[in-house]
Amino acid sequence: MGRFIKNPMTEKITAGATLASMRKKELKKCVVCREEFLGLKRAKFCSNKCKQKDKYQRSKLKEK
Ligand SMILES: [Zn+2]
Repeated sequence: MGRFIKNPMTEKITAGATLASMRKKELKKCVVCREEFLGLKRAKFCSNKCKQKDKYQRSKLKEK
C-alpha cells in the first residue's frame, strides 16, 4: 500500500503554499462584470475571460 504513505515533506510544502496564497487573497470586484471574486490584491478581473474582454474593449476604444 505504498500510495497511502504520506510524504511529510510534500504535505508541509503544500500547506505552507495554501496558507500563503490565502493570506494574499482578498475579496475583489471584477471591473468588467462587477462580480465579486477572491483574488490577489492587484487583481482586477474575476477570470481570464474578463481580462481578455477588458483588453478587447480597450483596444476598440483606441481605434475610435
Ligand atoms: Zn468578471
